[in-house]
Amino acid sequence: MPHRPYVIDEMISAKSIAARVEALAKEITASYRGTNKLVVVGLLRGSFVFIADLVRAMNLALEVDFMAVSSYGDRPSSSGVVRILKDLNSSIAGRHVIVVEDIVDTGLTLDYLVENLQTRHPASLKVCALLDKREARKREVAVEYIGFHCPNEFVVGYGLDYCGRYRNLPAIGVLKPEVYRKAE
Ligand code: 5GP
Repeated sequence: MPHRPYVIDEMISAKSIAARVEALAKEITASYRGTNKLVVVGLLRGSFVFIADLVRAMNLALEVDFMAVSSYGDRPSSSGVVRILKDLNSSIAGRHVIVVEDIVDTGLTLDYLVENLQTRHPASLKVCALLDKREARKREVAVEYIGFHCPNEFVVGYGLDYCGRYRNLPAIGVLKPEVYRKAE
């Protein structure tokens, strides 16, 4: 059921997202079968919808934890210095960790986080991102599981926001120009 009035030019439909998330979950399930001590770490707030669908489709024993980060400076990740607003509840030492991110843009956030989490001595650490904006990358960071490649445009929906809104849209797309104009 489309949200009305429809505010985005749809790029990825809810149906395509569901199919891709299912496939990713299968791939991850196959890779981690028999693995104990798996922790799936969601980065708040953008990954909350994705991680909810992803872990429910993963046929594995796992725990879920969350981190919230923000960058110093006015533009997200402009400085590459990331502040931890909410840390993990549990230790990841000796555990297999999958970090779940909504979108990798410059890569600065993940680069910092992966380095930070590695100092806590996990048994392994991999990254799963729903969207990958390759062209915007400033820092190379390994992303083992990717949902979709995304053009270098600002997208919303399925957890991704603009000024705190539109996270609840079931599809992903670019906000229509008139929506930006109204927000000004
Ligand atoms: P990076 O550090 O890779 O540049 O930034 C990653 C974060 O920036 C994402 O987790 C997300 O919060 C935000 N971000 C990057 N591109 C977009 C986008 O197109 N739409 C939205 N809503 N957020 C984005």
